Amino acid sequence: MTEATVEKREFKSELRQILNIITHSLYSHKEIFLRELISNASDAIDKIRFNSLQNEVLLEGNRDWKIKLTADLAAGTLTVSDNGVGMSHDAIIDNLGTIARSGTREFLDTLKQTETAARPELIGQFGVGFYSAFMVADKVTVVSRAAGEAQAVRWISDGLGEFTLETVAKESRGTDVTLHLKEEEHEFLQEWRLGAVVKQFSDFIEHPIVMDVEKQGEKDEKTLTEKTLNSRKALWLRSKSDVTPEEHTAFYHQISGDFEDPAKVIHYAAEGALEFKALLYIPKRKSFDLQFGETKVGPKLYINRVQITDHCEQLLPAYLRFVKGVVDCSDLPLNVSREMLQHNPMLEKIQKSLVKNIFQALEEMKTSDYEAYVSVFQELGGILKEGLGRDLANREAIANLLLFESLRTEKGKQLSLAQYVAAMPTDQTDIYFMTGEDRTTLEHAPSLEAFRHRGWDVLLLTEPIDEFVFPMLPEYQGKPLKAADRNAPELPAEDQKKVEEATETFKPLLTLLAEMLGGLKEVRLSKRLKESAACLVPDEGAMGAHLERLMQKLGKAEGGPSPRILELNPEHPAVQSLLMIHAGNPADPRIETHGRLLYDQAVLTEGSRLADPSDFVRRINELLIKDGV
Ligand code: ADP
Repeated sequence: MTEATVEKREFKSELRQILNIITHSLYSHKEIFLRELISNASDAIDKIRFNSLQNEVLLEGNRDWKIKLTADLAAGTLTVSDNGVGMSHDAIIDNLGTIARSGTREFLDTLKQTETAARPELIGQFGVGFYSAFMVADKVTVVSRAAGEAQAVRWISDGLGEFTLETVAKESRGTDVTLHLKEEEHEFLQEWRLGAVVKQFSDFIEHPIVMDVEKQGEKDEKTLTEKTLNSRKALWLRSKSDVTPEEHTAFYHQISGDFEDPAKVIHYAAEGALEFKALLYIPKRKSFDLQFGETKVGPKLYINRVQITDHCEQLLPAYLRFVKGVVDCSDLPLNVSREMLQHNPMLEKIQKSLVKNIFQALEEMKTSDYEAYVSVFQELGGILKEGLGRDLANREAIANLLLFESLRTEKGKQLSLAQYVAAMPTDQTDIYFMTGEDRTTLEHAPSLEAFRHRGWDVLLLTEPIDEFVFPMLPEYQGKPLKAADRNAPELPAEDQKKVEEATETFKPLLTLLAEMLGGLKEVRLSKRLKESAACLVPDEGAMGAHLERLMQKLGKAEGGPSPRILELNPEHPAVQSLLMIHAGNPADPRIETHGRLLYDQAVLTEGSRLADPSDFVRRINELLIKDGV
């Protein structure tokens, strides 16, 4: 062989930082490196097996799928080999030299702010993958030959900053990952240790994970035999009662990267016109991909134990993207291409069934283990709510699962829409909600005074998504849902009468204020305020204050805020004092300063920001000074 040229390259900077954190944070979980390498090997086998369905030549007659562990005690190396799809020169640079994930930056920032003890879970969810090898090895060599290529490539790195590449020969297709174990990690050369780690983390891997072990012959001679370390039990194919909770947990960990138990297991076999097996898990928490935006939707799809795709988007709607699992369907043709999955009526039917079962499972959890449900809902409810706008057929089912704080609930306690409706007094016909940043601001919103007075409850919605999805839920159990800030109930008849009587007297002042303040749709007396002096009401059909603030944050607010209606409470002493000043002298400069202060307090109580806070402070100080004289 001619002298090969050795290429030297550097890791991308984010990868370097990640490597550093991984090696230092995951120390107590370091055996997961084996799970990661085996899982890559298994994926590589699934890939070539899938590709060969269309192009059998790729197999080169090598279809005895196997992942092999080889421990070399003398050299201190452990090799994980597979006869999977392999990597070409360019693929190896792309795959083992960068972390090309979205959200990696945010992930790094979060990690830096996380306590060391809590890091392993985050990293586990991120999927450390191949690089976890550097927790136990000070050098890693990868030799890989891609399907259909003549030459192999050798990648070597100490995981610090650089790697080298050269072209080499390799007899068979696939990848050998060799770890030069650190002195203190030589336990990973022992058969018993490797066997235990495989059992714990990779028992359900479908392909055999084998190792040569010595066997004592009859005449004391030792022979090597190949031993399979994993049981290869496809959990989803077994009957529901046969699978223990421990097995579910182990399998769930393997497919999700989560370190916690699943919150709920959904395991069933559909029979009849369309047969399939489903094994789904609802997690307790938001996984990495859900937090940092690289979300893959849908469970794995198998056809008769052959994995077709890691995430089949056609099997679950995006708003159920937190559900992990496997669907195995024997009715689909094995040579199905990914394109053929696009609009497949069979998959649509399976999706319907999965969605129904997920709703049932969540309902069941809500009834039988409310506290667990509440904590799952707090994590994942924001995602589930997206379905209100996207899945009209299931809108009521989704609405049934939602929980809210309300004027009547204690802080941190929630109620369902059904409970809200059941508690509605007879004179209340609609369901009211109010959106805002947090409970405290909402509780003090002047527009809610009339509701308190009436004894009508209001749902307090504080997730940004609420503002967008609630308009898509027009009714629940036949009761219309309405925004409380623009649909506040009017005061009792006798209070209203007082307001009407006052209207004539106030008219000139109101007109003057509208002119002075400018930019308002109208200034009028309020039939809703009880305690506050003033409040702002959005005009019919205009955006509410909270939505407007959200749009501003998103940079989507065009042409500034929409004109509001300023409502004054004629019973309030501050408003009455203004009326007196006006009656005394309509040109009194205090009308403008006091009027502006009333407007500013309405802006503040609705949770918005003043356009000019320093002007507000100046006017307050003027009043304070006058008061002192
Ligand atoms: P992940 O497996 O989460 O994608 P890894 O860092 O473990 O991340 O691996 C990066 C990529 O390298 C994989 O997506 C795969 O394309 C490739 N790869 C890793 N190991 C192998 C292997 N044994 N055979 C073929 N490709 C592999």
